[in-house]
Amino acid sequence: MLEIKDLHASVEGKGILRGINLEVKAGEIHAIMGPNGSGKSTLASVIAGKDEYDVEKGQILLDGQDIEELSAEERAHKGVFLSFQYPIEIPGVSVTNFIKTAINANRKAKGLGDMPAKDMLKMIREKSELLEIDRKFLSRSLNEGFSGGEKKRNEIFQMAMLEPKLAILDETDSGLDIDALRIVANGVNKLKSKDNAVIVITHYQRLLDHIVPDFVHVLYNGRIVKTGTKELAHELEEKGYDWIKEEVEA
Ligand code: ADP
Ligand code: MG
Ligand code: MG
Repeated sequence: MLEIKDLHASVEGKGILRGINLEVKAGEIHAIMGPNGSGKSTLASVIAGKDEYDVEKGQILLDGQDIEELSAEERAHKGVFLSFQYPIEIPGVSVTNFIKTAINANRKAKGLGDMPAKDMLKMIREKSELLEIDRKFLSRSLNEGFSGGEKKRNEIFQMAMLEPKLAILDETDSGLDIDALRIVANGVNKLKSKDNAVIVITHYQRLLDHIVPDFVHVLYNGRIVKTGTKELAHELEEKGYDWIKEEVEA
């Protein structure tokens, strides 16, 4: 599904990613861990196509197609979802109306008309039940006065409704309390299928007790320096990152 080859990227002229290689297949969950400032959020942004980042070398292939020339919006239409892509507050626009607009924009890009209202309502009902989101929440104004947990709930609801092929969840910067952690883990586990893939970026081994990754990668200084299974996350929790730094330097 996703193939990243020797990716080098910079922001404001500063080199951040220095040769990333990563392959993600349908049905897989990949976790990316690593010390602060190692380039995890940059990698997520570059995959999603945010335009402040410059790709200097290498390729990102989605289903075999090089997506370098595609805008963030076009990538979203191809099924790439990045958490916190829509962090804006929109007074007067509800969680539901916002997602309806996003879904219809996706359909339009595929040459389809708006989703019939009846189907949309059915989908909203099914997904909100699946994720245990109550009706009242769906009519709240987007992000307005949302708590940390509510932001997560909104994000996971967006993910559920958009049914992305590749979801990238960047959880590093948010203080994930128990409630938020549970929302994210439940959402991912319920939405995971053999046809989609998830990349979870996290500092917290805890999250990976609930979302069991197929692979864990350590990003350090712009490179993936180690890849393992969930045991690697436990090892990092126990020993920190110093041993990885030492290994890399040796
Ligand atoms: P991580 O998510 O692993 O903590 P980031 O990808 O956020 O790391 O950051 C990697 C490096 O890139 C840091 O040194 C950070 O300061 C820099 N960086 C990231 N985004 C920007 C930006 N928009 N402008 C300037 N520097 C940035
Ligand atoms: Mg980050
Ligand atoms: Mg950052």
